[in-house]
Amino acid sequence: MNIETIFDFDKLDFERPGKSFYHLSFIHDGDWASILVPLIVINGQKGPGCGVAIFGGTHGNEFEGQVAALKLAHELDPSVMSGRVLLMPRLNPPACAAVMRESPLDRGNMNRAFPGKPDGTITYRIAHFVSTYIFPKVSVVVDVHAGGTKLRFPVLPSVLESADASLWKETVNHVFLFDAPFVGVGNASLQLGTLTGHASSLGKVTIAGEFGYCKSVYLPGLRHAFEGILNVLRYNDNLAGQPRRVDPTRKGPPIMIRAASAEEYVPAPLSGIFEPVLDVGEPVAEGQLLGRLHNFERFDLPAFEVRAPHRGHVLMLVFEGPVQQGDWIYVIGEETSAPTGEAQAIWERMTVD
Ligand SMILES: [Zn+2]
Repeated sequence: MNIETIFDFDKLDFERPGKSFYHLSFIHDGDWASILVPLIVINGQKGPGCGVAIFGGTHGNEFEGQVAALKLAHELDPSVMSGRVLLMPRLNPPACAAVMRESPLDRGNMNRAFPGKPDGTITYRIAHFVSTYIFPKVSVVVDVHAGGTKLRFPVLPSVLESADASLWKETVNHVFLFDAPFVGVGNASLQLGTLTGHASSLGKVTIAGEFGYCKSVYLPGLRHAFEGILNVLRYNDNLAGQPRRVDPTRKGPPIMIRAASAEEYVPAPLSGIFEPVLDVGEPVAEGQLLGRLHNFERFDLPAFEVRAPHRGHVLMLVFEGPVQQGDWIYVIGEETSAPTGEAQAIWERMTVD
């Protein structure tokens, strides 16, 4: 076993050259046991450089991030790298083991637990570890999500708007490195307690995003997450070489789509079975039909028609057929532009293998 178990986190060696595999031991809240949280620390042997943190398994029923982070842990070679890469492929292990969004131990949603609490339940203590030991050592944070069981997105790396102009510009430069068809633009006010909301408030370049759905390992999403992170490492000189196109078949740069207010996240007005009539990523006009809610108790009534409130692109559609009143059924975002031409120039310089 080449995994070292750490009980006192002050004793974690973040400086050790090369690659180190750790189990962080958190005492179980209700049993004679520990919760072991995996951490991989990679210190490049080519010299100092940017610190980058990669997270997967923040939600336990989303797998692209878990797989991408663990593959990176094995494929990255510290002998040809600079700087430091910290990988946490299963940030919420009880949720991951149970294949649940939240931890079955404390019902903790890791992505609402930040900045965490040193004396909280297990989910909050893991979040507190990240805030205390990981964030201070990095300037770039990537947290890879997916739509869970309910929601479907196009491959959608996402960013939070920032009032800090230079942070906002760098964040958009970074998200273009994922070379996805769309970039989701959100607002921190809707992201209370999230890992990326907290990291962004600390001034980190922060990328989140939805890279799949329905408990799968979605091949296009995994590819954009894994290759996108490699591009982030190339862009920051952790790795040598130019960033590379992930999807060379796509002609244009990523389209930035803003869904930054609460009213974009539309709840079902009534329960029923949702029938989509178009796909995620498609452009829509104001009033265009998105789908229908079928009620099988009042089958004498016509289906309820769900229509776009304004023009834009479909950023999310509910994936699971049965919808309860109040469940989000769609998000329509409007096209917006990058703060400078830098992101597009970076995208245009990306090489094709
Ligand atoms: Zn998630």
